[in-house]
Amino acid sequence: MHGIPFPKLIAHFIAAVERSGATILRADETSRRPAQMRILGPDGPTVCCVFLWTITLGGGGPAVRPAGERRIQLTNVSRFPLRPGMRTIVGGWSDEFGVYAFWDPRRHRNFSSRSPSLQIRADVLEQARRDGIATFLRPSAEGKEVVVAVDPPSLLWYIQNGEALHNTDTETGAQLVHELISPAPESEQKIIESSRSENETIRRLELVQTMRAFRESRFRPQVLHAYSYRCAVCGCALKLVDAAHIIPVSHPRSTDEIDNGIALCRLHHSAYDNGLLGIRSTHEIILNPDAIRRLRDANLLNGLEEFRSVLPQTIRVPASREACPRPENLRTGLEARQWPRHLVA
Ligand SMILES: [Zn+2]
Repeated sequence: MHGIPFPKLIAHFIAAVERSGATILRADETSRRPAQMRILGPDGPTVCCVFLWTITLGGGGPAVRPAGERRIQLTNVSRFPLRPGMRTIVGGWSDEFGVYAFWDPRRHRNFSSRSPSLQIRADVLEQARRDGIATFLRPSAEGKEVVVAVDPPSLLWYIQNGEALHNTDTETGAQLVHELISPAPESEQKIIESSRSENETIRRLELVQTMRAFRESRFRPQVLHAYSYRCAVCGCALKLVDAAHIIPVSHPRSTDEIDNGIALCRLHHSAYDNGLLGIRSTHEIILNPDAIRRLRDANLLNGLEEFRSVLPQTIRVPASREACPRPENLRTGLEARQWPRHLVA
């Protein structure tokens, strides 16, 4: 397939970033490569310099190229700028797989030929389409390079947190990334404890943190979409809705699976987290008599009647069954917030 013009590539890139909840603060000169922009996301602002091409089969076709290889052809660029405080992004969009792939600009300071190309395997792109992320280790002129492929919902995460993945340049790195997409309990700890050197421990800790941020970044869009961006308690939308964890993040049984999530407005999220408002496994909404007593003792009971008067009997749940809160999670969520035992049901 032929290359997509740069303005179209960058418009698609900006739209994907904005759908993830970020704001593009400045995007001047986006018609020419590289595009300079400031992205305001959940982790603050990121200044970016974006080089994008189309991922294609490359010239010569299957007779010349290895089967299953895809590539970007670096055109009209002599070097990639590396500056402190700026994120240089070198990537390609694959229309065939509907994912992005990103190479490590630190490994390409000097181009060996006039029109070099960077490769990735088709099965890695396919894996990213399926799992949201995949990495791939390839040789480069300046050591081994980790290529990172992500789907559009994870693009913002890659820009703000994904740089660390380019440092996982070991044979096991891609496998560890794969394991950390939805890790079994204890497996994060096992990955860290099986390091063979102090350096490796530091890298693995960083990888575990990066992949936690990846899972969290997937949780929010999935939960909000399932609840049509409205609070499960009061129905309010207004872009004031959070993806709340039913079993709190600090609890060992907490997950970033959709059935441990619920969309709640800021008010009801706070009330849920501090144990004033509860949701039973039957979806019934209840108030905590212990919490009310503590508020009365602290002289903080003002507003309770108004708060109570707008509460419906039960929460609204998503239409799809797998997106509904798991009853077990709702019970554990109440226990973790120290609800009186007779109300946990
Ligand atoms: Zn609400």
